Parts: sequence; C-alpha cells; structure tokens
Amino acid sequence: MASCFSKELGQLSKLSQLAQLRKKMSLLSSWFGKKEDLQGKTSLRILLDILKTMREGVIIVGEDTRIIASNQPAYDAFARKNGALETKRLSEAIRDLSVHEAFKKALENDESSEVKFEFFFNEKRTFLVRVSPIEFENTKHAIGIFYEQTQIEHLEKVRQEFLSNVSHELRTPLTSIIAFVETLEDGAIDDKANNQRFLSVIRKNAERMHHLIDDILELSSIEAGTILIEQKNVAVANLVDEIFVNLSSKAETRKVKFQNNIEKDKTVWADKARLEQMLTNLIDNAVKFNRENGTVEVSISETEKTHLISVSDEGEGISSEHLPRLFERFYRTDRARSREIGGTGLGLAIVKHLARLHEGEVSVTSTVEKGSTFTIELPKNLS
Ligand code: ADP
Repeated sequence: MASCFSKELGQLSKLSQLAQLRKKMSLLSSWFGKKEDLQGKTSLRILLDILKTMREGVIIVGEDTRIIASNQPAYDAFARKNGALETKRLSEAIRDLSVHEAFKKALENDESSEVKFEFFFNEKRTFLVRVSPIEFENTKHAIGIFYEQTQIEHLEKVRQEFLSNVSHELRTPLTSIIAFVETLEDGAIDDKANNQRFLSVIRKNAERMHHLIDDILELSSIEAGTILIEQKNVAVANLVDEIFVNLSSKAETRKVKFQNNIEKDKTVWADKARLEQMLTNLIDNAVKFNRENGTVEVSISETEKTHLISVSDEGEGISSEHLPRLFERFYRTDRARSREIGGTGLGLAIVKHLARLHEGEVSVTSTVEKGSTFTIELPKNLS
C-alpha cells in the first residue's frame, strides 16, 4: 500500500537545476552588463529579441527606475491586470524593498546582487532575482532576471514532510522492538509466562516495518513512472471473489461478511494485477473499519465512458473534515488506531496513483456511523 510520493520525489531532482540556474543567471547578467557592445550591434532591439527567447522573467529599468523593457514571463508574473510593464515605475510592478535596493545598487554603485522575495497576487509566489548594471546607448540601466522558485520550494517542503513522516513511522516500531529485546536480555527470556508474548510483539513490530518499507517502495516506483500498466478486459466478479477468499480469515476474525454484486460476465478495461491491488486495499480497509457483523459489498455501475466499481462498508464512517485529505500519504483519521490494526497510512495513496495510471480516479463518500463507499472510476476501452 505505498503509493503516491515518489513522483514528487522524482521531481526533486529539479532542485539541482537551481544551482545550474544561478550559474546561468550570473552569466547572462554579466553578458548583458558588458560595457562594450558587440561591434556596435548591442541595441535594445537585439536585447529584446533575446529576452523573448528566455523562460525567466526579465525587467530592464532606466536610471529613473522606470521599466523600459520586459519579456512575457515578467509580464505574466508582475503585470497584474493593468497593462504593460513598460513606462511603469518598478515600484508599481513589484512592491518589495529588497528588489528596489538591488536595482538601485546596480544603477548607483554599478554592483550586481541577488535577492529572494515573495510576490502575492492571487497566490504566494517566490522568486530569486539577479540584478546587474547594464549600459547601452550610453546610458546606465539595470537588468533583473527573475527565476521562479515556488515549485522548487513546494517540492522541498514535500520532501521534508515525507522524510519526517517516514522517520516517525519507522521509529515507533523500532523503539518497541529495542525495548522488548532489552527486556528479554535482562532476564525475561527465562520468564516462561511472558517470553513468547514478548517475542510476538517483536515480530508484529518487525512486520509493520516490513509493510511500511514495501509500501514506500511501491509508492516510489509508481510515482517515478517505472510501473507500466497493461490494460485488458478483466472479469471483475471473479477477481473480487478471489480477493474475498484471500481476506476471508481476516473477515471471519472480525465477523464481517462479504457480498459480491457484480454480474459474472462484466469486464472492465484494466491491468488485472493493479486492479486487484486497488480492490484489495479498499476491501481490506472495509473489513478493518467495519462494525462487527457488518457487510462489505462490492458493486459496479457504468456511464457512457466509464465503469465505476464501488466498495461499501457498514463501519463507523469518516467525518467530512477528513475526506479532502484522505488520499494523501500517511493521512489517517486515527493514527494510533490505524497502527494498532496494522495500517501504514499509504494504502489509499497507492490506490489513487494506480487509478490515475489507468487515467481513472478514486473517490469516497461517507456517513458517520453508517459507513463509507470508495469508488474506483475506470475509463472504458472505446476504441
Ligand atoms: P491505513 O494503512 O491506515 O489503512 P489507508 O491509506 O488505507 O491507510 O487509509 C488511510 C486512513 O483512511 C485510515 O487510517 C482510516 O483512518 C481511513 N479509512 C480508510 N478506509 C476507511 C473505511 N473504509 N472506513 C473508515 N475509515 C477509513
């Protein structure tokens, strides 16, 4: 059950681009800042042609800090709704003191500098800007090259949260294993009444760590895009029966009944192993979170373009404040309880990623004290 963080982790390699970018920014601004022009060819027009090809936002100001040139990325980021940036004062476009000081330093002291700032318009965005002096047509100007860091910072935050979650999740069973091993070493190994119990606690915690690592690796492969799905027509009723058999002893222990409402000849367009994995996760949860003598029902319906496979339980349900975050990795409505019943908090994240690999989706509806229904939506093969 370990699915959804690896895409973001994969993207984290982008962080190394930041170092390259700094180098590029520095080269660009020193090139633009050259006092001699290229055999007299460096004109505002050539400069503007170059700016058009850049993905980074660029703003050039004159001595009076009025903007004399900018490119499309700068316009998209800073123009808001009131027209072109040209002729505006820099302070009208970007109200950040440190950015101003950087431009002033370039104009007044001929100095290059780099500042990071936040820009709020609809949402918060973070930029790194390198500002350098530039001279053309015998007049002093300053050029700022803006690189957006919002996404990189988001990925860094995701990475930190993920590492902190994983460390926390691993530390809990590990602490317990160490404590029980020490107890056995301190003499409990000869305590015939308890030694087997201590060993089984150690085994349970080791298994938990094993599940967690399996889920993390699984999620990681899905998100890294290394898992390919092979879609075929899958007889879904048979598949559900097989999953019911696999989970029967768990269901019996919890006194939960199974009901398969899917017609025998019904097929869906899916990768059989991955569909089994998704349904196993959902049915396993429906058993774990059901009430005693409750039923788990699996049904199917369809629209013109999709099949909808739903797994319903008669458990305690999930209150509405949890629903929007339920498919996030490590999100649990009751962390201690999920751990107690052997959960990793990654199962639904894996289901979400697998459904998306099929270009489908997973969703949930729930009524507290009545139960929950998880639905996997899979596109039909219309070709
Ligand atoms: P876990 O390993 O904890 O089951 P999941 O990602 O599968 O992790 O589920 C995340 C959380 O969603 C669970 O800890 C539980 O709080 C909630 N949840 C999942 N399925 C159900 C369900 N059928 N009924 C009630 N709560 C559920």
